[in-house]
Amino acid sequence: MIIPANLSYKLIIILIIFIALTMNIYIEYNNTLDHNKLLMQENQNLTDLVGNLIIDRAQLFNRIYEIELIEMDIEDRMPSLRPAPGRISSYFGVRRTPYRSGAYQFHTGVDITGKYGEDIIATATGIVIHAIRTGTYGKMIVIDHGYGYTTYYCHLSRYDVELGEEVIKGQVIGGMGRSGRVTGVHVHYEVRLFGTPVNPIKYMD
Ligand SMILES: [Zn+2]
Repeated sequence: MIIPANLSYKLIIILIIFIALTMNIYIEYNNTLDHNKLLMQENQNLTDLVGNLIIDRAQLFNRIYEIELIEMDIEDRMPSLRPAPGRISSYFGVRRTPYRSGAYQFHTGVDITGKYGEDIIATATGIVIHAIRTGTYGKMIVIDHGYGYTTYYCHLSRYDVELGEEVIKGQVIGGMGRSGRVTGVHVHYEVRLFGTPVNPIKYMD
């Protein structure tokens, strides 16, 4: 078959145009695929980001809750009450000893007067670490509150708690008495911070 020269020339041009168009469509198609892939990746990244934000937020709320629990615990364990409602007959600090005229001593707590057998309460939550009888302090209860705080309740008439018992703030732990070296019915109350007596008045609301 003989194709005229000008027709074959036209055919070649048409063929080239056809090939060019086909290739263009193919490239466009591939570009669209890549574009879609990128969009999907972006979408995934955003989803991950939102997920992480939700987790961060939840962790933050957990942390705040934990801090609130610790604050509540500190509040419970910080001495803030009077062990008995009566009159304070002797304050913290240097005073004349009631036993030897002219002599001075450092009074390591406060004395609160009241009736014999009157309820004595724990001024903060803690664990009873001593429920013993000593010569000077008579029947004595010591509570460890953690955070460096201990409280002492002396000259008691009775114990309402045992060694090792967990007590809560405001709980009755014993009775006011005159056991040990005393001149009358009262409770000698001490607050100690890391073992050193501090002024209990500062720990009474
Ligand atoms: Zn005292």
